[in-house]
Amino acid sequence: MQYSELCNALEKIEKNPLQNYKIKILSELFANAKDDEIETVVMLVLADVFPAEAGKELGISSGLIAQTISRAFNISKERVIDDWSKSGDLGITAQNLCKERTQTTLFSSSLTIQRVLAGLQKIAGINGTKAQGRKMDILTELLSSADRTEPKYLMRTVIGQLRVGISDGLVKEAILSAFYTKIFWKGLLLQKKNSKKIFEEILELKGKRILVEEPMKEFLKKKDKKHFDMFLGANKVEIAGKEGIQKRFDEKGFFLENSSIDICIVEDMDFGNELKASVAGKIDRAYQVTNNLAMIAKISKEEGEKGLDKLEMQLFCPIKVMLAQKAKSFEDAFERVGVPAAIEYKYDGMRMQIHKSGDEVQLYTRMLENVTKQFPEIREVIVKNAKCNNCVIEGEAVGIDPKTGKYIPFQYISRRIKRKHNIDELAKEIPVILHIFDITFYEGKPCLNLPFKERREIIEKIIKPGKNIVLANQKRTSSIKEAELFYKQALDNKQEGVMIKNQDAFYVPGSRVGTMLKLKPVLDTLDLAIVGAEYGEGKRSGHLSSFLLACRDENTGEFLVVGKLGTGLKEKEEEGTTFKEISELIKDDILSQTDRSVLVSPKIIVEVAFEELQRSSNYNSGFALRFPRFIGLRPDKSINDVNTLGNLKKIFEDA
Ligand code: AMP
Repeated sequence: MQYSELCNALEKIEKNPLQNYKIKILSELFANAKDDEIETVVMLVLADVFPAEAGKELGISSGLIAQTISRAFNISKERVIDDWSKSGDLGITAQNLCKERTQTTLFSSSLTIQRVLAGLQKIAGINGTKAQGRKMDILTELLSSADRTEPKYLMRTVIGQLRVGISDGLVKEAILSAFYTKIFWKGLLLQKKNSKKIFEEILELKGKRILVEEPMKEFLKKKDKKHFDMFLGANKVEIAGKEGIQKRFDEKGFFLENSSIDICIVEDMDFGNELKASVAGKIDRAYQVTNNLAMIAKISKEEGEKGLDKLEMQLFCPIKVMLAQKAKSFEDAFERVGVPAAIEYKYDGMRMQIHKSGDEVQLYTRMLENVTKQFPEIREVIVKNAKCNNCVIEGEAVGIDPKTGKYIPFQYISRRIKRKHNIDELAKEIPVILHIFDITFYEGKPCLNLPFKERREIIEKIIKPGKNIVLANQKRTSSIKEAELFYKQALDNKQEGVMIKNQDAFYVPGSRVGTMLKLKPVLDTLDLAIVGAEYGEGKRSGHLSSFLLACRDENTGEFLVVGKLGTGLKEKEEEGTTFKEISELIKDDILSQTDRSVLVSPKIIVEVAFEELQRSSNYNSGFALRFPRFIGLRPDKSINDVNTLGNLKKIFEDA
């Protein structure tokens, strides 16, 4: 497939924020892809260059991208920087300057999606001497061949954000729509898609195989007799009752090749939703256990839902972790998870998903980043203290002060994630203790569908506690008094609070479930992206000292400002995260500078506490945080984890 076809689709999606429209465009793109193209298409629309577990990065800074644009189009670096500071988006700058290019290089030939992905994958594999120059050569070659909107999306893919608002959920919907019978019901038909009502679009269809529930035939006919007659003539329309429809899908499924039905129109919303959910649920399950949408699209295209059913969690392919909801109190928690509940310390560390097979161990963060190299001592302790042939266990790695043996806050161990050199030294400086709290795979089989108490029994059986590994401290109780005491103990032990778990609950990957709750005393905290900053004065001159924080608009993918952060950052290194450290971190991602302020591309995520959330017209989010205070850097979270505008609205409404 030509890269331009993919970019055209992205362009349409960028220009039209309607979800249904985005799904339609994406599903057409997926349907048009050949069997050997579909995975590449899905990866590129998600700006993924590798599957999550590969743990590889392109390692190209914004500065290097700017240089590449200058080189590929033979335009001065100053001109690139100037355009970049105006557009604030290297993608747009690449597109703008592509029109002004003064040379077409020797490599100029059209780009295919395979060439783009292969080029980017090659870049990620380059290490060692002159790596930056070699990476730039490949990128220059790709960019020189790009035209029209291609430079924009190519550069944004390199940055890792397409900024068109394509989420994993949207891709799942598009897979559903591309490869399975589409289900409509009466209420949906009356909704507007773009300018037209959906039933008007349906009546214009040609050459489709359509199954219509009896009452809907009358409905469509009544709405527009003339077009309905044409619709009957132009498509292969079958009419059936509710039972007939159900039976047909029970027997043949929804995979287009088997069902032989492109569209099914039923009357009742619940029935329609039920039909739709039977495939959507399979896609969700497949995603939960593989975390790989490209593979799910390929299997959907080739085998349909039967192929999805065969997918299982596998060793060394991390799954999305199960997340907790907040509890207001133990009364609230016990009501929601039932009693006796399992209460555990909520350790203030870094979540690790640990895959082990024999002596091979791989570690993944909550973001499924591979951090095996950064924590060599964990590998050792798992091989020694996890008594099983293979397993996937989860735990919280908490940093300790080697002199006092006391726990230290999360920020310190986050330094270990970023460390590429002298790893052993840092491991001695900031050792960690693993607190194992769950298991999802055991002796060759997933155990997601075992009740939590049975999963806990397995970890109690296989984990031999040692110096660097223990089980999460747990108490099973129905007594609020006992629970309160345990909670106090957790806080006295410098942990964040407690987790309250339903003992019969399954492990649901990637969901914020109501069967695992967290209770902590601190003010609400938010994970926000830094999108701008101002240079400080006095003691802080020369460093950025006030940081613009933004949440993510889940519908558009845009980052919207919610406040300015200065409090909580330190001057001296020994006191914690410093202004200087953050300034260094964002240095490479500065998009533009005016006077004393800079705009930066959202990459650095910080956790902040705040007193209150207010409505405000000062910022484009419509909200402002009162007294935001820095809690810590969150290198373990991705830009998709940044709290959304929806989260803020909820906090505001719940306050
Ligand atoms: P939060 O990050 O505030 O949503 O809290 C959930 C996080 O608490 C999980 O992602 C884990 O990293 C962490 N955690 C600490 N202790 C436990 C525990 N005993 N069980 C489950 N999660 C825990």
